[in-house]
Amino acid sequence: MEEEEAEPHVLMFPFPALGHVNPMLKLAELLSLSGLRVTFLNIHTIHQRLILHTNLHSRFSRFPKFRFHTITDGLPPAYIGSLTKLSVLTQSMEAVTKPLLRQMLLSGELGPIPTCIILDGFFSFMVDSNAKPRIPVLCFRTVSACSFWAYSSIPKLIEEGQLPVRGEEDMDRMIEGVDGMENVLRCRDLPSFSRVGEQTEPILQYCVDQTIQSSKTQSLILNTFEELEGPILSCLRKRCRNIYTIGPLNAHLKSRLPGEKSPPELESSNGYREVDRSCLAWLDAQPSKSVVYVSFGSVTVIGDDQFREFWHGLVDSGKRFLWVVRPDLVAGKDEEDGVPAELEEGTRERGCMVGWAPQEEVLAHEAIGGFLTHNGWNSTLEGIVAGVPMICWPQFADQLTNSRFVSEVWKIGLDMKDVCDRKTVAKMVNDVMENRRNELMGSVLKTAKLALTSVEEGGSSYCDLERMINDIQLLRQQRQVID
Ligand code: UDP
Repeated sequence: MEEEEAEPHVLMFPFPALGHVNPMLKLAELLSLSGLRVTFLNIHTIHQRLILHTNLHSRFSRFPKFRFHTITDGLPPAYIGSLTKLSVLTQSMEAVTKPLLRQMLLSGELGPIPTCIILDGFFSFMVDSNAKPRIPVLCFRTVSACSFWAYSSIPKLIEEGQLPVRGEEDMDRMIEGVDGMENVLRCRDLPSFSRVGEQTEPILQYCVDQTIQSSKTQSLILNTFEELEGPILSCLRKRCRNIYTIGPLNAHLKSRLPGEKSPPELESSNGYREVDRSCLAWLDAQPSKSVVYVSFGSVTVIGDDQFREFWHGLVDSGKRFLWVVRPDLVAGKDEEDGVPAELEEGTRERGCMVGWAPQEEVLAHEAIGGFLTHNGWNSTLEGIVAGVPMICWPQFADQLTNSRFVSEVWKIGLDMKDVCDRKTVAKMVNDVMENRRNELMGSVLKTAKLALTSVEEGGSSYCDLERMINDIQLLRQQRQVID
């Protein structure tokens, strides 16, 4: 026990959504590989689904100093993954989970008092900085630096009357006065919560508050890399005392895993749905770079009309496609709905649809030539690492800003936000796969190389992770935990 207490102990607590849990687990694995004692706290319902569909327990059992613990969010299981109920979830967590977490810390249920807590910055209210025992908080925001910076700028934009976006607004109006984003950011590229009409809307207030809190913590951790978002990070550093950029975490973890290539059962897949691996065999039978991979992530829901437009557009493009159609992707869709007659031939000849794909393996597959994505930050980074040009169809939150940077700043994809008709889909697919292929491939391959270099020994993200691990060890030595 004495030895246990003499060594650093990191408690990690992600916000309960796949896009947050996934990178936090990758970071947990990286910290465990470095030999740190790590306790990972997860909401029960999320954890149950993860262990049902992944190798989570066997993967982490190789770290003797790693522990999983679970805690309730105070809600019935049906609330999982639904962002429309964000305020219900956060209110419940503040009322139920927060006091419980304190109790668990004090009782020793989570092991020795942590040296620090790596807390998801999307619910930074979870730990009071003044409550005893005082434990330093490192705040992990799982979004891009550019969207975090856009969120940070919202209070100023409201003050200047540039926000919120109102009813009949010209969405192409340029937003002024956001450093590092001059002539880039239009109204339609701001995080979706800016489109609410009134600045008092709880969701806008919540996102802004959490961003302000995140900037105030001792340290901010971002899943990005200096070579991608350097100019924006320079702006952010004027507000945040200490930023660790340690991404892309998927590539970072792979590069530090011992051995050449881990077998599929040891791959760090963190999805919470049953993976349909049959699509890999289908991909094996397709020509090199011929397939567009289509996925809108783990929570986006689209209308039946949008679903049809995408389907027609993909078939009309004449290109091959692999499409993740989650059972809950289309609002009100009947499981029994078959393939419409006019789409039957094109889908059978060139298409493959699955309920959930092993996305990282798919993107790395030789047959993949393009990625039609909603630009969740994990998907965007995974596309970059795989060197696959994107078609962006963002839906909410940070995705709207990410897609603008993908198309206008990094020039590794085309943005079709706010548009959804079959003609545009077919045109975008052909532009990415053929007409504008060379220019897009040139920049995406360059960006992929920068990403991979950043996580190799001596690279920017590699060094920042080392710095963070050293700082955690120093925290322990300085005995900054004040009981
Ligand atoms: N994902 C997956 N299989 C799929 C669809 C998505 O493994 O069929 C993973 C994807 O690799 C990514 C995560 O789910 O890591 C989605 O996170 P992202 O931030 O892109 O979007 P969100 O789900 O938060 O909207």
